[in-house]
Amino acid sequence: MNEKAREELAKYRQLRDEVSEVSNKLAALHKNEMACKKGCSDCCMNFQVLPVEYFSMLDELKQNSPAAYKELDKNAEDCNFLIDDLCQIYESRPFICRTHGLPLLFMNQEGDAWELSACPLNFTSFDDFHSENTFPQDTYNSKLFLVNQEFVKNYKEEQFGDFDLISINRLVKDLKK
Ligand code: SF4
Repeated sequence: MNEKAREELAKYRQLRDEVSEVSNKLAALHKNEMACKKGCSDCCMNFQVLPVEYFSMLDELKQNSPAAYKELDKNAEDCNFLIDDLCQIYESRPFICRTHGLPLLFMNQEGDAWELSACPLNFTSFDDFHSENTFPQDTYNSKLFLVNQEFVKNYKEEQFGDFDLISINRLVKDLKK
């Protein structure tokens, strides 16, 4: 990978730290409403991520390979890195996995109303959501989109468009190369 693409990976990781920080603060703020705990994997599924996220994960996991993961199952409904309800790549997990269970605020597809999504196991008797106690998903998705745009421009090993996504489960195959 060339230097410019590596710089974008570094920017992505900075942004990922920011997402974790905001997520941790929100989880602490909502600690009485959130039932999330180690061993609950209801939010895990076969996610697709942008190339900058994918190649950041691959880069990190090549240096620090997960202890366990399943054989590649292209049709798996869940993530191949979920073993016994535990994430095997927790430190490298993508943005979406860092916000599991939190109240996520985003604009609907029509662009005319805000929508809120939260795990149904959480917030069973709480609905006082506002901009200060929800995760601003669109803000971070926009920042991620821009970093990814620069990354795909500079990543020469494969060609990707701005909106291309890669399944996390492809990592199983790529980690064996
Ligand atoms: S990367 Fe980890 S947290 Fe994300 S879906 Fe896979 S097992 Fe779950």
